[in-house]
Amino acid sequence: MFDLLDERGIIDLGIRKEATLEEAIMNLRRRRRHRSDILQEVERILDSVRSNIQGERDDVSNWKRRSGFRGAFSTNETWMMIREPNVQCDWSQRVWFTKATPKFAFITWLAMKDRLSTMDRIMKWSQGVDTACVLCKAAIETRNHLFFECSYASQLWEYLAKGILLGTYSINWSLLVRIVTSGSLDKKGMFCIRYAFQAAIYAIWRERNRIRHGEKPLPIAMLQKLTEKGIRNKLSLMSTRKRRGLETALQFWFQTRL
Ligand SMILES: [Zn+2]
Repeated sequence: MFDLLDERGIIDLGIRKEATLEEAIMNLRRRRRHRSDILQEVERILDSVRSNIQGERDDVSNWKRRSGFRGAFSTNETWMMIREPNVQCDWSQRVWFTKATPKFAFITWLAMKDRLSTMDRIMKWSQGVDTACVLCKAAIETRNHLFFECSYASQLWEYLAKGILLGTYSINWSLLVRIVTSGSLDKKGMFCIRYAFQAAIYAIWRERNRIRHGEKPLPIAMLQKLTEKGIRNKLSLMSTRKRRGLETALQFWFQTRL
């Protein structure tokens, strides 16, 4: 505070340049009228600090909270106060839904943000790579191609979803995102289609990675059976645990098998 003052000012206030705040407020010399505005301001601030001191109480640390300063610390409120909040995206609840399988939801989340390392993206930072889809070898590998325009991938998606979506069945990414983020089916139908969507994305991405790492491609019939079995196991678990609205999900799944 006193860095702003010249030697003369310090003498006028009667406070050492190196004084602590405590020393400064203990300096009870009669207040003078100063010609300089800054000295008047220093006197005013010292007066206000003096009047706020409650000598009989020990100092305590307080945390800044939304409702003012409080003794208790809240990680939640502190995080909210120091971060720049973004508008919540409309599909987050649809990807991170209750009883989703985390590894499926994670890959779906990356796909939603188009952050999977598909060859169209790798091409931008690595020249000369082979960009062809390893599943069908007939098109450039992009997010929209893999999910599910690709002739190989679409067979898995059709096997899982056509019986549920019927007339609204599609292999177009934007349309599918709209379907799985809307609430056009009842609770068990929505759970089945969202879960199948994530299971299919995961299975296709995993198969794509296996082939890129030199493994033999799985016949589509085997990938269909394995993925469907995983979904059935999940639905069976939901039925035995009596999740409200999902007790008949497995039954519904069987009814939608074409
Ligand atoms: Zn393909």
